[in-house]
Amino acid sequence: MDSKELKKDLFLNDKNGYFKIDEKTEKEIFDFAEGYKTFLTASKTERLCNKNAIFLAKEKGFVEFDPDKKYNAGDKVYLNQRNKSVILCIFGKQPIEKGTRIVAAHIDSPRIDLKANPLYEAEELGYFKTHYYGGIRKYQWVTIPLCLYGVVFDENGEKHEISLGEDENEPKFVITDLLPHLGAEQNKRTLGDGIRGEELNILIGSRPFNDDEESQAVKLNIMKLINEKYGFKEADFRTAELEFVPAFDACDIGFDRSLVGGYGHDDRVCAYPALMAALDTENPEYTIVTVLTDKEETGSDGNTGLRSNYLRNFVWDLAKTQNVDGYRVLRNSKCLSADVNAAFDPTFSDVFEKRNASLINKGVVITKYTGARGKGGTSDASAEYMSFVSQMLNKENIVWQTGELGKVDAGGGGTVAMYIANMDVDTVDLGVPVLSMHSPFEVISKLDLYMAYKAFMAFNK
Ligand code: MN
Ligand code: MN
Repeated sequence: MDSKELKKDLFLNDKNGYFKIDEKTEKEIFDFAEGYKTFLTASKTERLCNKNAIFLAKEKGFVEFDPDKKYNAGDKVYLNQRNKSVILCIFGKQPIEKGTRIVAAHIDSPRIDLKANPLYEAEELGYFKTHYYGGIRKYQWVTIPLCLYGVVFDENGEKHEISLGEDENEPKFVITDLLPHLGAEQNKRTLGDGIRGEELNILIGSRPFNDDEESQAVKLNIMKLINEKYGFKEADFRTAELEFVPAFDACDIGFDRSLVGGYGHDDRVCAYPALMAALDTENPEYTIVTVLTDKEETGSDGNTGLRSNYLRNFVWDLAKTQNVDGYRVLRNSKCLSADVNAAFDPTFSDVFEKRNASLINKGVVITKYTGARGKGGTSDASAEYMSFVSQMLNKENIVWQTGELGKVDAGGGGTVAMYIANMDVDTVDLGVPVLSMHSPFEVISKLDLYMAYKAFMAFNK
């Protein structure tokens, strides 16, 4: 063998994914991204993802799970976890004791939440006070159009679902920033301090109610409009859940349209292919459990997050339908924690170690460990399980790569992987690389997205 042949035989083939696929696959990649863009634009909150996922699941024959019923192989059920998380499940041909195949993605994304008493007027302008949700770089969230989603209960306990600013004919909202001419002092702040938490005030109006002596005429006019449209009063903000998210649609990026830009790729770029894979799976060998969860961005706490018992309880209920102990099912289960990784960004290459970073168009990324500082806070998948997953992907010609979250000691981060692994389930992170992660407008590759779908299909089979 000459050195060229020997290299081909021995070295890792880490070519761009476009050199590893055929024409047919390229067409499938671009077609799949069309559905994704529609879903992403229509699902900007965890509640909307939950609702849209359940709607699509019902169309495919999923029915609400009843723990007291007996189920047969191929039966499809779902669990709606408090309108914010959802589990889809298809019973496998194998007995449940042989374990389940869990795919877990999160459907919450960084955003701007309202405080309990948000509404105020300052110098005859109307504003909302906010508290951001998840890890954001605050300076990125000013001077962009925002829209409002949420749930408010009025004084009679009636629920009002709010959506304003998404439609092109609806008004939008914005957080203002200083002009450069007067920004000299602000420019001296560090980037992280450039916009402060208490400066994330949302501009919501300016027209006063009337010309009487009553102060707060702008606030009064805004409250009057809100009351007319939604039927609630200022006191009802205290019990509401209102969220501001970017108002722009998902779209193609680049002359070649190979990328998708949009809000909330983290982690809907994994949740969508996970959902599609669950909807496209029929008669799986093992029982499949697809979890679309809330609260990952704030640490997975709370009863809609994966540090709670809702997934464990669901699996135990599944086990009970076949008179098995739940822990035995978990012990034999396998999980793909479907979450994004940071794509290598050549403009900011310093924070990455290129040989081990995930790259755009190199396929779905397996992240053996996340965490920080000596692998703190990670489940660190075993070689045995890594080998299982890599063989599964290779068998189906799925383009994949490995990744890590930045250089050693440069930062780090977590996913839901460790909470599932802690339940005695073999778990590894598998997802899509993202540019500008946690910004209002993140970027992903269509090829990587489609490879995630293929990976979940292979796993469900
Ligand atoms: Mn994530
Ligand atoms: Mn995240």
